[in-house]
Amino acid sequence: MEIKGSCVCGAVQFTIVGRPSAMGTCHCSRCRKLGTSTIVFIKRDQFRLLRGENEIRTLAPTERYAYTRSFCGQCGTSLGEPLSPEGSFPINAQCLDDDPGVRNEMHEFLDDSPPWAASVHFEKVK
Ligand SMILES: [Zn+2]
Ligand SMILES: [Zn+2]
Repeated sequence: MEIKGSCVCGAVQFTIVGRPSAMGTCHCSRCRKLGTSTIVFIKRDQFRLLRGENEIRTLAPTERYAYTRSFCGQCGTSLGEPLSPEGSFPINAQCLDDDPGVRNEMHEFLDDSPPWAASVHFEKVK
């Protein structure tokens, strides 16, 4: 199983080999503003960056529990942490072009989600 992923402009492209270990959504304002709320966790040896390493820009963590986040330097797509040195790291689920095979099992900081969030995330448009 190979899951393709990319930014909007296509400068950054990658594949994930095999199924991610988990999917989760963080509802804190930092993750929402960064556009990296819903992520999949993958192991380092599952990740293949096909192109765009020099395009990736990073935002360093600013406080405890605030992780490094990366973006395409051309189109601004939030990528997660593809350059992380850790053995396991998050990738923005919105960047995936294929079904990763996992479903969302974790919701963090739900109390921080705005009053309109449920209407966007949890209800189908009628
Ligand atoms: Zn891009
Ligand atoms: Zn968060």
